[in-house]
Amino acid sequence: MKRHVFTATALTSAIIGAASFASPAMAEEEEQYITIGTGGQTGVYYVVGQSVCRLVNRGNDEHNIRCNAPSTGGSVANINGIKSGELELGVAQSDVQYQAYNGEGQFEDDGAYEDLRAIFKIHGEPLTVLARADSGIETLEDLADKRVNIGNPGSGQRNTMEVVMDAMGWTTDTFARAEQLEAAEQAAALADNNIDAMVYVVGHPNGSIQEATTTVDSRLIPLDNEEIQGLIDEYPYYSQSVIPGGLYEGNPEDVTTFGVAATLVTRADVDDDVVYETVKTVFDNFDRFKQLHPAFENLDEQEMISQGLSAPLHEGAKRYYEERGWLDDE
Ligand code: GLU
Repeated sequence: MKRHVFTATALTSAIIGAASFASPAMAEEEEQYITIGTGGQTGVYYVVGQSVCRLVNRGNDEHNIRCNAPSTGGSVANINGIKSGELELGVAQSDVQYQAYNGEGQFEDDGAYEDLRAIFKIHGEPLTVLARADSGIETLEDLADKRVNIGNPGSGQRNTMEVVMDAMGWTTDTFARAEQLEAAEQAAALADNNIDAMVYVVGHPNGSIQEATTTVDSRLIPLDNEEIQGLIDEYPYYSQSVIPGGLYEGNPEDVTTFGVAATLVTRADVDDDVVYETVKTVFDNFDRFKQLHPAFENLDEQEMISQGLSAPLHEGAKRYYEERGWLDDE
């Protein structure tokens, strides 16, 4: 009994201690660190993370937030990192955000991740299949019996490719070889003839597709059959998407495929002020941000805060959008 009381008292003082340590006055003085999960270094997520951090770090004198954005395995790895506390923010495909928040697809076993929070949508990301010209691959169906990089576990392309494989009634045995290379490794693997096709859910123009198309004669493959149309009809987060002709060597024509959007996400308990300052620096410097990658060129503020977001908005982001009068009609 006595011991019990002692434990309770010790606990109470520990809680009081912790509460005063985390008082707002104190938090303002202390430097806060945030880590944004991105993707492979040849992707656009890496540019998103680096760009956001550069803007955040420029304002460090005012808000005391330090930001870094390391390369990661991609969307799924970022959401898992946010969940485990290893990351505060991360870039994730809109389909992966939806599946994690609702506990669907590869997140089914984990259940719905209700603490996931959306910040904003960024650029569009078509599912991009690039095949060596000498592989004979011209359609999605032709991938059967070929050496295909279906993506590293943890990447968004792996997640979306598995959805496509399910829709096609395929397994990894359908391919002559199903490789699991990281995004940054695939262009060289294609050029070295270690794979026939690479798969990347990525914004365009993209350095890795550029690298592949300039080093080996290769073609973007249209994904527009009945099964793909079925996915677009069934899921709110998939839509038809066109990779414009002329972006890449040897690929002068538009190519129809389907895609998702990149989004920035976080966790409900990440400090409101941190998310607020992050969002504020992006939108207060929006013209500058849009120049940081051609995939950001046509970004529109209203679309960014209203589309592709299935998790609720984070309170810190909401505060900024309300200040700007962007959520007025809610
Ligand atoms: N969409 C990819 C993923 O979720 C990453 C694309 C990129 O890095 O730009 O893993």
